[in-house]
Formats: sequence, C-alpha cells, structure tokens
Amino acid sequence: MSALLEVAGVSKAFGPIKAVDNLSLAVAQNEFFALLGPSGCGKTTLLRMIAGFERPDQGRILLDGVDITDVKANRRPINLMFQSYALFPHMTVAGNVAYGLEMEGVRGADLKRRVDEALALVQLSPLAQRKPAQLSGGQKQRVALARALVKRPKLLLLDEPLGALDKKLREQMQIELKRLQQETGIAFLVVTHDQEEALTMADRIALLRQGHIAQLGEPRTLYERPRSRFVADFIGQMNFLEGRRIAEGFEVPGIGLLDAANIADVPAGTDGALAVRPERIVVSESDPGQAIAAEVEGLAYLGQDLILHLALAGQAKPLVARVPAANPLTTHVARGSRVWCSWSAAHSLILSE
Ligand code: ATP
Repeated sequence: MSALLEVAGVSKAFGPIKAVDNLSLAVAQNEFFALLGPSGCGKTTLLRMIAGFERPDQGRILLDGVDITDVKANRRPINLMFQSYALFPHMTVAGNVAYGLEMEGVRGADLKRRVDEALALVQLSPLAQRKPAQLSGGQKQRVALARALVKRPKLLLLDEPLGALDKKLREQMQIELKRLQQETGIAFLVVTHDQEEALTMADRIALLRQGHIAQLGEPRTLYERPRSRFVADFIGQMNFLEGRRIAEGFEVPGIGLLDAANIADVPAGTDGALAVRPERIVVSESDPGQAIAAEVEGLAYLGQDLILHLALAGQAKPLVARVPAANPLTTHVARGSRVWCSWSAAHSLILSE
C-alpha cells in the first residue's frame, strides 16, 4: 500500500487551543478514509491544512511523496467539497459542473465529454439543464460531487458531505459515495462526526480526540477491538462494568469473576471496566448456568430488535441488551421480568484507559 497522502507530525494552534496536535497519518491510493470525532476534535482544521487553506505551525504534508506544505491551495491536485454546496444559482447543472474545467481552459468536445461523464457518474444526466433551485437536496449534493470529480483530483476531501440530508437520503448517499469512490479510483478523505456513516463507507477510520488520533484502523477493528473507553463509547454502544483485574480473573463487585478476550494482556492490580456490546448479550428466561441474574427495568421496541435495560446486583447503571425480535422472549418479557444474561468471554474486553 503506497501512501498517496502523508501527514507527518502536523500541529495547529489557535491561541491557547491546540486544534491539531502532532498528528500523523497516511492515506493510500484508492482509499476511502474517514476522519471521525466529536465536535471540536480538529477534523476540519486538519482537512483545511491538507487542502491548503490553513498553514500548519509544525509538520509536513506530502502528496505522492512530494512536500506540498507550502504549495498554494489552488496548485494542489486536491479538491475540497464543502458542506454547503455553493452552487451558482444562475447556472444550469451542466454549467456548474463545467465551470471549474472552463477556468482551466478546457473547451469544446473535450469539455462536453468530461461534463457528460461526470453527470452520468452521479446519475444526473437527465437533469443537466435544470437550475439548482429546481433540485432536491440530494440532487444538489450530487451536482457538488460531480463538480469535484470532474477535475479528476488525486484526492477528494469531503467535509460532512451528507450533513444537510435527511436520514433516508443520507443512507442512500453513503452507499452511492462508496460506489463513486470505487468507480473513479480517486482517494476520498471524508470528515464526519457520524460513526455509522464512517463505518458504512470507510476502508479505514481515524478517530480523533482533542487534536490526537485516539485510534486508527479498519471499521471492524475499531468496533471489535477498541483500545480505550472513548473509542468503545464513540463507535456504537457499549456497556461498562467497573472492576479490577486480580490473579483469578476480572472481579466486578456484586457480580463476581469474569473472563475477557484480552485478559492475558492485563496485569493483576489494574482497575478498569469490562466492556461488552448490547448485541453480544444473550438473554434467557431460565438460568443456562454461569449466567447473571437480572431484572428487566425498561424496554424499547425497535421492530427488528428489542432493547432491554437490565438491573444487575451491585451495578448503578443498567446493562443494555439488544435482543433480536426472533427470540421468543421478546413477545412477553415485561418490566419486572426476571431474566439471566451471559456473553462469551471472546466478545468482551477489559479497558483500563
Ligand atoms: P466540528 O465537527 O464541530 O466542525 P471539528 O472537529 O471539525 O469540529 P475544528 O473545526 O477543527 O473541529 O476545531 C478544532 C478546535 O479549534 C475547536 O476548539 C475550535 O473551536 C478551534 N478553532 C477552529 N478554527 C478556529 C479559528 N479560526 N480560530 C480559533 N479557534 C479555532
């Protein structure tokens, strides 16, 4: 995997705020890479430095091995798609897409062919002669994409590209963005605060926190093997049972000794939490042996799943379990029901950070 983009030890402060703090990462050719994190973690600042709109205080940015840290934004073979699409209202869809190429001096048949190709790619050919005001939000979003793709950048930066769309359309466009990325072979670097979006689209994700990378990896790794509570909590939902690693296992007050996938890596004496995902919890109405007794404290019906809040002895917070609707228990379990819950040690982790 040769790196297309390399961010090496980049920092940027605004007065006392370290927006990006000595951050390094590499994006491969053809990769769909997501920068994920809560508001204020530095995602946009990092993206703006890569685009050339902001200068790092420290560190270098390389594209294809060439140092572009001091290259002006408009001289970088990088395109940035803004959150607000900023389409020209008086121009047609085709005009909007053609504009950037015309500025570069592309004319005639070549121009027409490239605009047609870009519109076909985003499935907007039939709407080429419309004005932006005559388009839906999703269609405007696609015009903006076509406009960015038509210039055939090596790297396309997208800042919250689906932020303005409603949920259904967002989900549809996530799949479409992924398809576009694969078809064009252009590397995409997407900024998002939506973990589901990052999991759906990205080959790899860098989860940022206060200007640092909390964890970088494939979606599955971040979900299955989070390195800290912050990562475990930000990506999906997680239960935490506070306790301590002792020689015999992980001891949770009120519950007892538990095992976990990474127990061998955690030294005795470590305080931490045993982390287990709601969908990994097996809930049954009779004790299968080695299970933990619980009382149903609350329920939420989601159609395909039932969410159960389970009160456990000695735990202030209920354990959240996600039970598939196919489980017969979901038809009659109620508040106050006595149940047993268990999970495979392989599906739980001890997190001490
Ligand atoms: P969001 O998801 O809310 O857009 P973000 O992760 O993109 O957040 P940034 O916009 O990169 O975060 O901001 C990182 C930090 O730097 C924040 O604390 C922000 O207030 C601060 N910051 C960003 N730009 C400036 C600026 N021009 N002047 C001063 N502070 C700034």
